Amino acid sequence: MVDKIGFQADVSKMLNIVVNSLYSEKQIFLRELISNASDACDKLKYLALTNPGIAQQSGQLKIKIVPDDKNKTLTVSDNGIGMNKDDLINHLGTIAKSGTADFVKNATDNGSAVELIGQFGVGFYAAFMVADKVEIISKKAGEEQAWKWVSNGVDGFEISESKRDVNGTDIKLFLKKDAKDYVDTIYLRQIIRTYSDHISYPIVLDLGKAGEETVNSASALWTRHKSEITQDQYKEFYHHISHNFDDPWMTLHFKAEGNIEYAGLLFVPSQAPYDLFQPDRKTGLKLYVNKVFISDKIDALMPNYLRFVRGVIDSADLPLNISREMLQHSPLIEKIKHGAVSRILKELKKRTKDYDDYMTFWNNFGIVLKEGIYEDFGNREEIASLSYFKSTKSGDKLTTLDEYISRVAENQKAIYYITGDDVKVLRNNPQLEAFDEKNIEVLLLTDPIDEFWTQVLVNYKGFAIKHISQAEADMGWKRDEPKADEGSLQKLTDLMTSMFKDEVGKVATTEKLTKSPVSLTVENGQMSLHLERLMRNHQQQTAFASSRILEVNPYHPLIIRLADMMADEQNKPKVEEVAKLLLDQAKIAEGEPVGDPSFFSDKMSSYILKAL
Ligand code: ADP
Repeated sequence: MVDKIGFQADVSKMLNIVVNSLYSEKQIFLRELISNASDACDKLKYLALTNPGIAQQSGQLKIKIVPDDKNKTLTVSDNGIGMNKDDLINHLGTIAKSGTADFVKNATDNGSAVELIGQFGVGFYAAFMVADKVEIISKKAGEEQAWKWVSNGVDGFEISESKRDVNGTDIKLFLKKDAKDYVDTIYLRQIIRTYSDHISYPIVLDLGKAGEETVNSASALWTRHKSEITQDQYKEFYHHISHNFDDPWMTLHFKAEGNIEYAGLLFVPSQAPYDLFQPDRKTGLKLYVNKVFISDKIDALMPNYLRFVRGVIDSADLPLNISREMLQHSPLIEKIKHGAVSRILKELKKRTKDYDDYMTFWNNFGIVLKEGIYEDFGNREEIASLSYFKSTKSGDKLTTLDEYISRVAENQKAIYYITGDDVKVLRNNPQLEAFDEKNIEVLLLTDPIDEFWTQVLVNYKGFAIKHISQAEADMGWKRDEPKADEGSLQKLTDLMTSMFKDEVGKVATTEKLTKSPVSLTVENGQMSLHLERLMRNHQQQTAFASSRILEVNPYHPLIIRLADMMADEQNKPKVEEVAKLLLDQAKIAEGEPVGDPSFFSDKMSSYILKAL
């Protein structure tokens, strides 16, 4: 009986993109099929741990490439885990992964399909770049029935019962007219060596009458000595395990010896993956125990803030016979994580020496790494030292906390920061006026995570980390200039406090403003205005008014004048009108909308007219 099943809509779209836009990269189809075959062998090896009979049945694990010159077909075979009917339908006719709709959209919009293809698990479909028909025969380990899957890669596929001696999969490609080269063994050998040398299983090329030849080195790359591995081999291995197409920005290959021994081959991508911020993002590390693949779902291997790291950890000291679930909580895993993290951070530190190079990394992953200052108590200071920020003195570049410290003013005991949504708006915030005048640097922080790490990293190398609202008390700022009369000023701030009681907790004078009459800030230690806005955007509680302060500059001519006007009760309506405009002005400087735009613009026009 033959079942005819149509492709999911997304699959058809994707096939179209893969086949048409990756035209110049055609030969990658082979690496994709070999990569899948290798994964299938990994899975079988794991199954065989608890089921030795299965290992015996399949024999030595290998991948076979069989070109058929006469019929113009190419077959990629493995004796790995195999697929049953459901697997064939679910894995090769639909796209289960959540990001695929994004893929189709992204690839269509910017045509950068090559980089995106692997990230979305479209690997197998690359076969249709060179084949106008694909026939798969597969038998799942432990099952009796084999299945045949046939498709022309256009509308759908057919599935029927079939026969195969042992478990595993044959993928037979009926080569397109312009892809007949892929029966040429010299060409095939070259492609396999270029892209798939790192595969741990033998890749055997069938040479017809001349017999068979193992084309790759067939030993797990991470077990080889560094000196025997070329950059290209590292790169192709990275492609294989990460499903990324970019070059690794960092490659870290090490052997840890001590009370627990393990090897690591870790990579940091040079491009941020599309799902860096998706909550269901998988961990990027594959765990092997003595070269047997165990799982790529051991989240405990890497902290969340290093979720962009890809690679392999292999330890012979982990027990093979415990479940993946138990491994998740194993103290040995915790130790490995600890060691791997400190190596990664050390390597990152080295790379900071080349600013431009490091910025490639920082622009992709800095925002994620900074989560570590908040999350990783033990490495807090080290991660902070790897972090780069905009500041009032950093110009076009970014600065580090250490550079900041090297520039502090005399008597300055703290690193000051301000948070907000946008660097340009922050730079013009009136709150910074006194800092500019006194030549004190301020970090301009705009990422949501900045709100959190600044709460936990209270100190860096002896310097307190403080919001700028705390500077005034620190430094005892006072100015020697004409100032509003104390009594009248008190009356004015009392009036404003009662007028704005729903919007701010209090109205107070400050020494921090030099140019602006007013500015908004918050009580020491309270949620910043930036965080307040972030929370409001997420429909969190909105009653934050009580911690807000409207600061008034007692030296500003406008404030002096308003305070004077308080002496005459008749002036009250005018004073109130101007006070409202001042609050609006403070909001605008903070990057917030004014309360009543039509009131604001009417009054603005009438005052401008008077001035002209
Ligand atoms: P990816 O490899 O990124 O998951 P593919 O489209 O290449 O995406 O493959 C989809 C799925 O099909 C694989 O995850 C695997 O479950 C299954 N598969 C593909 N090739 C094989 C194979 N040779 N043996 C067993 N399963 C396979």
